[in-house]
Amino acid sequence: MTHDALTGQRRRTALATKGFMPEDEGDALHAAALAAAASVPSAPMLEVGSYCGRSTIWLGDAAEAAGVLLFAVDHHRGSEENQAGWEHHDSDVVDERTGSMDTLPFFRAAIHDTALEDTVVAVVGRSPLVAASWTTPLSLLFIDGGHGDEPAMLDYDGWTPHVAVGGTLAIHDVFPDPADGGRPPYERIYLPAIESGLFAELSATGSLRVLQRLR
Ligand code: SAH
Ligand code: MG
Repeated sequence: MTHDALTGQRRRTALATKGFMPEDEGDALHAAALAAAASVPSAPMLEVGSYCGRSTIWLGDAAEAAGVLLFAVDHHRGSEENQAGWEHHDSDVVDERTGSMDTLPFFRAAIHDTALEDTVVAVVGRSPLVAASWTTPLSLLFIDGGHGDEPAMLDYDGWTPHVAVGGTLAIHDVFPDPADGGRPPYERIYLPAIESGLFAELSATGSLRVLQRLR
C-alpha cells in the first residue's frame, strides 16, 4: 500500500465518514503528517477533536506509514456547535439512552473499517484533563476540538508545549476574516503560536494552518 496520499478504501471511507474535514484539507493534513514524521522520527502524533473519525483516517494513514501511534483525544460528547439546536447538529449521533451525543461508535467503526486499530488509539475524555497528564513529545499535534474561546485557550496552553522542536502544529478552522467563521482558533491558537516566536507557518489550505516548531 502506498502512503504518499490517502488512497483506495481508506479514502472512500474517509469521504463517507461524518465530519467537517474537506477533502483538500485532509490531503494537506496527510502531507503535513508525513513531513512531521520525517522531521521528528518515532514520536507519536495526537489529534484533539476526532468526532466520527474523518480527519483521523488521513492522519492515521500517515502515522501508520511512519510507524508511530496516533492518539485521538475526544470526549465524544460534541462541541457546543454540535448540540441540538446549533448549526452543526446531527440527530443521528445522539445516544437515545442518555439523550447526549455519542460519536464514539461512529469513530470506532471508521477506525475498524480502515484497518487502523493498530495505529489509532482513542483517548476518550476531556482535552484539558488528558493534557494535564501528558508528557510525551509529539511529532504532530492537530487541534480541531472545541471552538469557543475557553476550549481553544485551554488546548493551546495544554497541548502546544508537547510539540517537539522541528515538529508540527496543525490547526483547523482558522478564519482570519470574521466573515468566514468563528474567531477562537485564529485568535486563541494560531495568533498566540505565531506571536510566541516558537512556531512559523509552513502552509495554509482552506482553514487548515500548518506550523512548525522552531525552538
Ligand atoms: N476532526 C473532526 C471534527 C472535530 S469536531 C473531523 O474531521 O470531522 C470537534 C470535536 O471536538 C467534537 O467531536 C467534540 O466532541 C470534541 N471536543 C470539543 N471540546 C472538547 C474537549 N474539551 N475535550 C475533548 N473533546 C472535545
Ligand atoms: Mg474543524
